[in-house]
Amino acid sequence: MTAATLPREGESLVARTLRTGFATLRFPPPLEREFVTEYRTSRRRLVRIGVCLALVTIVGLAILDRWLIGANAHGVPDAIRFGVHIPLVTIAIVLTARRFYRWYWPFVHLFAPLYGLATVVLAVHAEGTLTSYVYARLIIAIFFFYFMLGLSFTAALRTNLVTLAGFIVAAIVTGLPMQTALYLSFLFVCANLYAGAGCYWLEHANRVAYLDRRLLNEVATHDGLTGLLNRAALEGEIHRIWQQAIRDRDTVTVVMIDIDHFKAYNDRYGHQAGDACLRDVAGAIRRAAGSRPRDCVARYGGEEMIAILPGADREGGERVARAMLDEVTALAIPHDRSLTQPHVTVSVGVATMSPERDSSHDLVVRIADRALYIAKEQGRNRYAVLDEGDFGEATTVLVARELRAG
Ligand code: GH3
Ligand code: MG
Ligand code: MG
Repeated sequence: MTAATLPREGESLVARTLRTGFATLRFPPPLEREFVTEYRTSRRRLVRIGVCLALVTIVGLAILDRWLIGANAHGVPDAIRFGVHIPLVTIAIVLTARRFYRWYWPFVHLFAPLYGLATVVLAVHAEGTLTSYVYARLIIAIFFFYFMLGLSFTAALRTNLVTLAGFIVAAIVTGLPMQTALYLSFLFVCANLYAGAGCYWLEHANRVAYLDRRLLNEVATHDGLTGLLNRAALEGEIHRIWQQAIRDRDTVTVVMIDIDHFKAYNDRYGHQAGDACLRDVAGAIRRAAGSRPRDCVARYGGEEMIAILPGADREGGERVARAMLDEVTALAIPHDRSLTQPHVTVSVGVATMSPERDSSHDLVVRIADRALYIAKEQGRNRYAVLDEGDFGEATTVLVARELRAG
């Protein structure tokens, strides 16, 4: 890795890929998969138009060289026209229907080189001087592979190289006159250069646009300092989780986290050190929350964070709260103005609810906030759990645990 490609702290994979570039037209694994999926889905209609146009072209060429110029009107060419080209394209058209579309992609990677080679065989069987006319149609095939099938630049290049190799072998085996062979080779190489360059830049531009879109979305939904989800994105996420829990009759656990004596930390170590501390604590909170894909961890505001754990019960919430206290303690960030410990600590409030139909998530967030307040009141560096029924009776059924002596 060079200095330019080394990851920078807090930088997302999308931002890093944009910065370091992708001359080989390949993103790092998870991003590549996501890009290909989105690209293929969004291109379905265009691909369909492309293969329909191919069918029109094939029929047009068949009329031209079978009936109009009489370049080849016998067994093998007809077998290729009606037994290979037209069936292949027809299958491709069918596979662009929404419910078969996932089969289009393996098919087209096989179909395209086969189509190119079949065109070469068609030319081999053309009548004498008309051979070069039939070969010339490979120029259309070259552009077709680069632009019309939805193939990536790499796959289109591979297809065209296979076709070019087929042409060279056919030219040698059939003893194509040297002048014709050279002339056609030059045409094919030029067509590959122009169409290939166009295809490369088009795919490159598509990839840049994809990363830009992703980055814009990341910036809009994530907090710049901590990398956690921001408040606006949290609202959308929690609403979605809540509605899903209503449908699944499942529980939702909310965990609120607040750094202890953070104002004193800023006063003692400076605002920049405060920022670094906040970033490290956010990382610890995210690690402790686990990596279940449905969970979400957000910056709630200031030095307050929130974790939404769909499907987690009260015990699950407590486990996460304990892990949060442990992870933050393990950071061992010195804080000699803290009245709690000589290092940075957090207080945590946990609330679990089974959402009722037509209920809102506001209540569970308020209960978790209340639990956090109680954890603070009870001495900080601890967590408190409140149940739905406890809310409003702040004096009572509180489970607050001192995790560490001192
Ligand atoms: P408590 O233990 O009761 O939570 O006390 P506290 O000092 O942490 O709470 P208080 O609400 O009085 O202070 C929160 C501080 O967090 C004040 C504010 O300057 C600081 N803060 C909020 N957001 C940021 C931030 O993005 N960066 C830095 N460095 N400080 C922040
Ligand atoms: Mg605080
Ligand atoms: Mg606070």
